[in-house]
Amino acid sequence: MKLSIVIPAYNEEKNIKLIYKQIISALENFEFECIFVDDGSKDNTFEEIKILSEKDKRIKGISFSRNFGHQTALLAGLKESKNDIIITMDADGQHPPAVIPELIKEYKRGFDIVNTQRISTADASFFKKITSKWYYKIINTLTDIKIESASSDFRLMTRKTVDAFLQIDEKDRFTRGLIKWIGFNQSIINFKAPERMTGKSKYTFKKMFRFAIDGITSFSSKPLKFSIITGILSILVGFIYSIYILIMYFLGNTTPGWASMMLVILILGGFQLLSIGIIGEYIARIFNEAKNRPHYFIKEKC
Ligand code: UDP
Ligand code: MG
Repeated sequence: MKLSIVIPAYNEEKNIKLIYKQIISALENFEFECIFVDDGSKDNTFEEIKILSEKDKRIKGISFSRNFGHQTALLAGLKESKNDIIITMDADGQHPPAVIPELIKEYKRGFDIVNTQRISTADASFFKKITSKWYYKIINTLTDIKIESASSDFRLMTRKTVDAFLQIDEKDRFTRGLIKWIGFNQSIINFKAPERMTGKSKYTFKKMFRFAIDGITSFSSKPLKFSIITGILSILVGFIYSIYILIMYFLGNTTPGWASMMLVILILGGFQLLSIGIIGEYIARIFNEAKNRPHYFIKEKC
């Protein structure tokens, strides 16, 4: 059994060697190739990968022309992988290579895809834990796919499922959702995510927000319908309110209703902006698909 390990890395110069050591000790008894995808790092990440690839023929590296994002880096690594069993994981040690034999054990029980779920994350902030929990609740109600909370992109896939995954040419990719969508026999195991070995999280708030929006808009059109529902509700409320206003007018009770007017303007204005925003998200997706640009460019390989 030959393995391909796919590792996206963005500004992880100090972690490359550390994760490499963990991998070779965890996979002593396996034949494997390890593909690092340098996602346009600004530090020496690719130099570190090159040093390893010169010493160890099993190590390969791809370097992007710029930062295309974690999900795109995963795609590039999967495209590059040659072996029958493919494992994707992070470069920062939060997906411990020591768990890989457990993934393989699960595969041997007859599964095509083995997903993982974090039972704890050593350095996750309160904010990240809460937003992540609610995010999965929202995505599971809005979409037809079911994603377990605290899912991660630490996963084993067979060649057959990777080939299926690679047939999807979608641009703004939400890997977790696409994996569920392709089907096959899937299983999930738990693991404890330790602290990041060195450096800070590369998922900035902006990147997390983008990731969250992509997840929902690529698997559900319900937010679009939300605009219609809130629109109808606003009209109904407005209609009832206008009856009240008319009655007050005929009773001669009209006062300069500044407060109520402001409320209506604010609430309605808010809903309108929200609706336009939702439509905008979908139009942006159509726009990206229509442009049909390549997913990424490779600057260098080793
Ligand atoms: N990553 C990437 N491109 C990016 C951001 C992150 O390739 O634009 C990689 C990063 O180097 C790491 C993995 O994706 O290997 C997960 O990122 P990180 O550990 O920063 O996220 P967190 O664990 O904090 O959610
Ligand atoms: Mg991490």
